[in-house]
Amino acid sequence: QAKRSGRHHVCFFDPAMQASLLAHVKLETDLYQAQAKQQWLLYYQPQVDHHGKVFGVEALLRWEHPERGLVSPDAFIPLLESTGLINAVGEWVLETACHQLVHWAQHPQFRELTLSVNISPAQFRDEGFLRRVEAVFARTQVPLQRLKLEVTESLFVEARDDARDKMLALKAQGVRFSLDDFGTGYSSLAYLAQLPLDQLKIDQSFVQQILVSQANAAIVESTIALAESLDLEVIAEGVETQAQQAWLLAHDCRAYQGFLYGRPVAASVFETQLLGGIAS
Ligand code: C2E
Ligand code: MG
Ligand code: MG
Ligand code: MG
Repeated sequence: QAKRSGRHHVCFFDPAMQASLLAHVKLETDLYQAQAKQQWLLYYQPQVDHHGKVFGVEALLRWEHPERGLVSPDAFIPLLESTGLINAVGEWVLETACHQLVHWAQHPQFRELTLSVNISPAQFRDEGFLRRVEAVFARTQVPLQRLKLEVTESLFVEARDDARDKMLALKAQGVRFSLDDFGTGYSSLAYLAQLPLDQLKIDQSFVQQILVSQANAAIVESTIALAESLDLEVIAEGVETQAQQAWLLAHDCRAYQGFLYGRPVAASVFETQLLGGIAS
């Protein structure tokens, strides 16, 4: 707006801008409160194979806001990143999820369960990152071979080598890596091949369009082929219909996550659903 009106533009008071600035400041204050009062909660969503067996789970952060109820992370992760709060909150997420996995691993049915945890680029780039996660590993005694850290392509836009070095340090301890939201970023395929990745996670925006958009179907097909040729696992996220799963299976993608199998739910609900038999 300001640009279009040219260089004689004078910026007058804009009530809409003022309101959004205030909302932003309020959200920021609320986030510090949330951290102080530990208003965080983890939800868990199942990951299934083509037999419908649950092999993994992704931990997803929720904020129990005193007035607004449960808030999804897309609404506040960017602000957690810009305030630096992401380091403390991310540590809480990892520790809580690892404790949960250790607990679940006591059930015979969950012994092989893998746990995926999202790590934001800001958190990963922080100089204290390795020290923090290693402290969590020591405190929780989580089986590292069953932990997957989900990173996004944006992590590799700058300071790639630093990111790669940290990944290698964690890989050496057994941790695995998944590239989340694959296809939505700008990573070069040449560089991707040099990263110590274990899994590509096809973004839900492509998955949800496979049956209606030729272009998206082609993107998903080539992602599956890429994963195959780089010897990576592939999982599709955002699978909502049986028809989407059938298409994915026909194109050799055998791991899925999405509302079709279960929405993200509290740990106790996840446990009941699984032990109640959605897995069998
Ligand atoms: P993501 O890691 O790509 O997670 C998948 C998102 O898609 C989740 O949203 C999930 O609830 C949603 N989803 C799963 N299946 C379906 C489906 O079939 N249909 C549709 N429409 N949506 C589906 P959520 O939980 O709101 O999380 C949004 C994003 O916030 C996550 O995207 C992730 O990037 C970020 N996030 C979540 N938890 C954390 C966390 O602990 N740390 C960090 N740094 N980021 C997190
Ligand atoms: Mg994820
Ligand atoms: Mg994703
Ligand atoms: Mg996402």
